[in-house]
Amino acid sequence: MSGAAHESSRIPDPGSRIPFSDLHLHTTASDGLETPEELVRSARDAGLLVIGVTDHDTLDAIPEAGRLAAQAGLGFVPGLEITAVWQGADVHLLAHFVDARAPRLAEFLRDQQSDRLNRARRMGAKLAALGVPVDVERVIGQCQGGVISRPLLARAMVEAGHVPDVGAAFDAYLGEGQAAFVPRTGATPAAVVSLVGADGGFVSLAHPGVTRRDDLLPALAAGGLGAIEVYHPDHTPADISRYLALAETLGVGVSGGSDYHGAGSHHAGGLGRIGLTAAEFDDFCSRAGRSVPLPVSS
Ligand code: AMP
Ligand code: MN
Ligand code: MN
Ligand code: MN
Repeated sequence: MSGAAHESSRIPDPGSRIPFSDLHLHTTASDGLETPEELVRSARDAGLLVIGVTDHDTLDAIPEAGRLAAQAGLGFVPGLEITAVWQGADVHLLAHFVDARAPRLAEFLRDQQSDRLNRARRMGAKLAALGVPVDVERVIGQCQGGVISRPLLARAMVEAGHVPDVGAAFDAYLGEGQAAFVPRTGATPAAVVSLVGADGGFVSLAHPGVTRRDDLLPALAAGGLGAIEVYHPDHTPADISRYLALAETLGVGVSGGSDYHGAGSHHAGGLGRIGLTAAEFDDFCSRAGRSVPLPVSS
């Protein structure tokens, strides 16, 4: 048997995996299209038993999502997706089992959010100079204290008729290296791992197959990284295989989720299909030193 054939027999067939938990979900607190209430309903309808809500750089949705998940009989993992910066490029880290009341985390998130505001205004200035203006202050106002991010600017560009869809806005203007892109400033991945870990959170490297900075993994693992997000909609079977092996080599756990941003948004198809099986979720929790009770549905 060839090595490749042997290798592929170890790759879980996405069709045969039964996701139990989805640990990567967004709401309207960041760039998701669904409120916590809508997300909980979607997750339950998709057959999930546990959800981890992970908005970008904010915990604003967590109290409400946690309460509604419990009412719906879903297990709940509080979390967020933190944007760190390494050599000018974004590196996303998922933090689970975080405590919104942890003062250092709260202060860190205030800094992240104010950097997002500055960056959005600078990108807005660039868009105006490029002849495709959007009303950035209106977009910021619509966030209602939530977190501004490029998808919100992209949606405003679609509304203004500058581009046909959000993907085109990223491709032509907002994506890394494009004309209106402004690099972020902020904490390194190692600093985020250490900060979250100090407050008892459990950190995974998000979608490493997209970020493509595997070189960072050994040092992050030595510095307290808890897991690698192996299961993600943008990962190919080869990515899944590679990151399963890397997680084992580095002695870290396996995370996974759909990165759902709401029906009709990107990654909409993965809800209920991409996540962790019950056994994988048990391992995730035991590595984090936590347990997630499944509430009785009301
Ligand atoms: P930001 O937080 O401002 O860096 O924006 C990053 C977010 O933009 C990601 O989390 C994705 O949800 C979204 N995004 C990135 N690339 C694209 C794309 N090509 N099309 C649509 N959304 C994207
Ligand atoms: Mn997003
Ligand atoms: Mn991400
Ligand atoms: Mn995400």
